[in-house]
Amino acid sequence: MEELRLAARAYYNNSSSDLQNLAINFFRSMDANRDGWVSFQEFTRFLRHNGYNWVNPNMFSQLDTNNDGGLGFWEVLTFYYIIKTRAVWCRACGAQLHGLHFTCVACFDGGQNTFDLCARCYGGRQFRHHHRVFLDNYILLRSKRGISPGTNVNLNQWFRALELAVGVGNLLNVGSTLVGCSIM
Ligand SMILES: [Zn+2]
Ligand SMILES: [Zn+2]
Repeated sequence: MEELRLAARAYYNNSSSDLQNLAINFFRSMDANRDGWVSFQEFTRFLRHNGYNWVNPNMFSQLDTNNDGGLGFWEVLTFYYIIKTRAVWCRACGAQLHGLHFTCVACFDGGQNTFDLCARCYGGRQFRHHHRVFLDNYILLRSKRGISPGTNVNLNQWFRALELAVGVGNLLNVGSTLVGCSIM
C-alpha cells in the first residue's frame, strides 16, 4: 500500500489544477458529513451508491495506514488511484492485483481484454490459457523498448535465458546464454 500511496501522491503533485480539483471533489463526495474524514460507513455507502460493488470493503483497513479509523485526503487519494488504474484481477484466483503480476503478451498486444495472473497462480501454473508467453508488468513496460533490464540483449534472448534457467536450474548457463560465450 505504501508504494501505491507514493504513486498517488506523485501523480497528484505533478498534475494540473483541474485534475487536482477532481481529486478534491472525489474526496468531498465521500466525506458526506464534511468533517474532513471518511468513516467506514461513508466509505461503504460511497461504494454502494457509485457502482463500486467490486471493491472489497476490507480495503478500508488497508487504506487506513495510520489506523485512526478514518481516511484522510491522502488515503482517499490512494483509493482513487487504485480504482482508476488498478482494476485488474487474477484470472485464476480472483485476487485484485495491485502490484507485481503477470500478463499474457499476445492478449496485451492484441488490444483485447488482458489476461492477468498473480505471481502465485502463474508460478504454480494454476491457470489455463491458449497463449504461452507471460511477462510481469515491470518487464512488459521495459520490453516496449526491446531492451531487458540491465543488459544489451533483446527480450527474446533474455526470455529464452529465463526459460533455460527455469528448465535447467543452472544460473551459469543463463550467464553464458546472455553473453554468448561458453562455460569452458
Ligand atoms: Zn491468482
Ligand atoms: Zn493471451
